[in-house]
Amino acid sequence: MSKLALYGGTPVLKENPEHLFHWPIVNDAMRKAQLDVLEAGNMSGNDITAKFEEEFAKWQHVKYALAHNTGTNSLLAAMYGVGLGPGDELICPSITYWASCTAALGLGATVVFCDICEKDLQIDPASFEAHITPRTKAVMVVHYMAHPADMDKIMAIARKHGIKVIEDVSHAQGGHYKGKMLGTFGDVAGMSLMSGKSFAIGEGGMMVTNDPEIYRRAIRFGHYERINQVYSDEEIAGTNIIPFGGQKFRMHQISSAMGIEQLKKYDAEIAEIDKAMKYFWKGIEDVKGLRMIYPDDPGSDKSGWYASRFGYDPEVFGGVSNTVFAKALAAEVQGQFCAQCNFPLHHSEVFYTVDIFGHGRPTAALNLPKGVDPRALTGKLPVADTINSRLLGEPWFKHFEPDLIDRYVEAVHKVAENYRELLVEKGDDARSGNVALTHRKK
Ligand SMILES: *Cc1c(COP(=O)(O)O)cnc(C)c1O
Repeated sequence: MSKLALYGGTPVLKENPEHLFHWPIVNDAMRKAQLDVLEAGNMSGNDITAKFEEEFAKWQHVKYALAHNTGTNSLLAAMYGVGLGPGDELICPSITYWASCTAALGLGATVVFCDICEKDLQIDPASFEAHITPRTKAVMVVHYMAHPADMDKIMAIARKHGIKVIEDVSHAQGGHYKGKMLGTFGDVAGMSLMSGKSFAIGEGGMMVTNDPEIYRRAIRFGHYERINQVYSDEEIAGTNIIPFGGQKFRMHQISSAMGIEQLKKYDAEIAEIDKAMKYFWKGIEDVKGLRMIYPDDPGSDKSGWYASRFGYDPEVFGGVSNTVFAKALAAEVQGQFCAQCNFPLHHSEVFYTVDIFGHGRPTAALNLPKGVDPRALTGKLPVADTINSRLLGEPWFKHFEPDLIDRYVEAVHKVAENYRELLVEKGDDARSGNVALTHRKK
């Protein structure tokens, strides 16, 4: 008789308590703010967005915040802002969402991938340094899955080599590294504010910087209606206010209105998430083979715990893969657990051979010196290649409800104690291996 719910045993929870995970939390102030925009027909204006930017900049401790329609475009604006262009290389960790770096190709630049650290899933400073060439213009530092990257080391390397630093804070809005807010270390930061992220306002993104020239360039690229606010008549002469990127990046004001309200309650919400997630971890910290991924430095945190992962050691569980282990966990509590993270971007031909614009040559190599192969610039990335077989995704509790969280703790103990039942699983995913690449087969 099986104990595990995966094979017909009694599940720990028969239903998923939806309220515990529902996000974002919408209050009456948000409803009213959005309706006001709608009823005033003010969706495409800029007044509410300007107010949101002002308050966001204050909260983020930066001089400038520039709202965008997506996080992807806030990062593209940041890339253009630091001057990334034809023949330049952008170094980016391979394990991240594609939007961290892909737009660099459209600027005529090449993306060079570096590895991540197994211990915290963040960009590996040594690998970053090893990938620098005379053409390296900028590095994209992603604070991946809510964990801060090692900014002391990264900034030292970047400054030594004269490399611009862009932070992608899409997973860690409001987070800190050694007491200082993420997004304030590099030259500029971009972040997603779409509905799935911790700071969720619909679709939207925010670029933040203390550098007036980066701010101006970002406006020149995709904010036609503001060009004459930051450029003089002489500077505009001959070009009019046509954005150089040919883009329109303005934020929808329903999102801006939601953002203003979100700012008022965000810090309290992520404090509660933090309390709930730490309580969950207290309950399972003694389970051998599982490892919480959390910064050790005082003043560093895992703000919002977006898409948080923890380490899984298949050896401790008889070689049972993380995919199967996650399936067993999910069967106990009706979802919430998963395996893996983003697939390694350095396996995509987009960054090597695809001719995106019809130049008759691979876009990634378009402006590189003859004979320089983008694939060789990236080379082998051993952690990125295998990390997907050693992670599990944890439930993202939005409320501190100990009685309910205890059930998830119970589920973890139950599956860990009965893992031998899982040894019967057959197929590709049953035993640990490089499941990272199975992602691509589907
Ligand atoms: C979501 C995300 C983005 C893109 O943001 P959008 O708002 O979806 O355009 C960029 N980088 C990372 C790491 C993300 O997770």
